[in-house]
Amino acid sequence: MDMRADVLIVGAGMVGSALALALRHSGLNILLLDGGPLSVKPFDGDAPFEPRVSALSAASQRILERLGAWEGIEKRRVSPYSDMQVWDGSGTGQIHFSAASVHAQALGHIVENRVVQDGLLERLHDSDIGLLPNARLEQLRRSGDEWLLTLADGRRLRAPLVVAADGANSAVRRLAGCQTREWDYLHHAIVTSVRCSAAHQATAWQRFTDEGPLAFLPLSRDGKQDWCSIVWSTTPEHAEQLMASDDAAFLKALERAFEGRLGAVLEADPRVCVPLRQRHAKRYVDEGLALIGDAAHTIHPLAGQGVNLGFLDAAVLAEVLVNACERGERLADEKVLSRYERRRMPHNLALMAAMEGFERLFQANPLPLRWLRNSGLKIVEKMPEAKALFVRQALGLTGDLPELAKP
Ligand SMILES: Cc1cc2nc3c(=O)[nH]c(=O)nc-3n(C[C@H](O)[C@H](O)[C@H](O)COP(=O)(O)OP(=O)(O)OC[C@H]3O[C@@H](n4cnc5c(N)ncnc54)[C@H](O)[C@@H]3O)c2cc1C
Repeated sequence: MDMRADVLIVGAGMVGSALALALRHSGLNILLLDGGPLSVKPFDGDAPFEPRVSALSAASQRILERLGAWEGIEKRRVSPYSDMQVWDGSGTGQIHFSAASVHAQALGHIVENRVVQDGLLERLHDSDIGLLPNARLEQLRRSGDEWLLTLADGRRLRAPLVVAADGANSAVRRLAGCQTREWDYLHHAIVTSVRCSAAHQATAWQRFTDEGPLAFLPLSRDGKQDWCSIVWSTTPEHAEQLMASDDAAFLKALERAFEGRLGAVLEADPRVCVPLRQRHAKRYVDEGLALIGDAAHTIHPLAGQGVNLGFLDAAVLAEVLVNACERGERLADEKVLSRYERRRMPHNLALMAAMEGFERLFQANPLPLRWLRNSGLKIVEKMPEAKALFVRQALGLTGDLPELAKP
């Protein structure tokens, strides 16, 4: 017999898991499925850092706190950062943001994705949300007023509302025929963790090089400040070269590209290379369908915002669905789901456009543009109010926030 749910969430990554937890008291029958095992790994505090990390904003932290997941995340390993230094590698312009400028303790936390995921999964296993591990979606079609989903192992599921939280290459988005606008950044990102000879001072560092931005994000273990997670965005050819080079050559190249700001780069974990593509769904909703997280949008990691946007999507969609339930509305109704799209799409688009502009400005070689960005950084550096506004925004203290994210 086919399994049935009121809401079927495809993808139990950080964003899909957050949505399921946000709906745990709604009285709805929720089913969360994922192609992976959905098991929580025992945490070893001495283990190397995972290569994939996220800079979580204060708004994301509040969402995770209210979902009951933050405690488990914090207990494993989080690295708060209080400052951010950004500079132009081909000029002298630089800018410094600090949490102290708005009387906050931290600008955010660098957390390994696996740690966030496990903190959420732990709460999910304690809840009565239906979890379907090792369930890879293969087919999806309308069947009357419902969706009929077929898994790789032949199992079938039905639901009036399907939420796509299955990441950048979303199968739901493809199978449902949702259109996207996408373009290549002509960048690959090399991601790994490195140990430096100088302490990172709980600061996120970003240098704009001619090939792309290079970020050193502070990681902390037992109070030590010598490890950083790096995201090095560069041309595909350069990335290929760096991936092929031996450890000693890679460390030297990295130290040079970072102008040795944290002294010598002494060792690095294995490198991972990710091609970067910007993708935005033209619509986030259709009858009985909603797209959230990377299934709806992927953005350049220079913004450090991908999963932060995803958590806000999840919190807003949960709020819209719970309110509609209370009013006795049909959740699959496109009119109901459009309330989610109206609140999230302009915000996501604005951020993506700003990042695109930023990225192009820093990629530009003509002298007037180089002058503009160099002087721009210097001018903004001398404008404390403008910088505080930026910090408040980064902390998620402004804008149309869902209840789960409100200070
Ligand atoms: C180099 C790099 C650095 C980044 N740094 C940051 C940062 O500092 N801050 C930040 O906010 N964001 C950052 N991001 C973005 C962030 O990692 C993503 O936005 C986030 O992981 C998206 O989460 P998600 O849950 O939407 O998707 P995913 O994490 O991709 O999860 C999708 C889930 O769906 C499951 N799935 C997929 N297909 C199927 C299927 N057919 N059937 C069943 N299940 C399926 C997968 O198993 C997975 O569990 C970065 C990204 C990159 C590439």
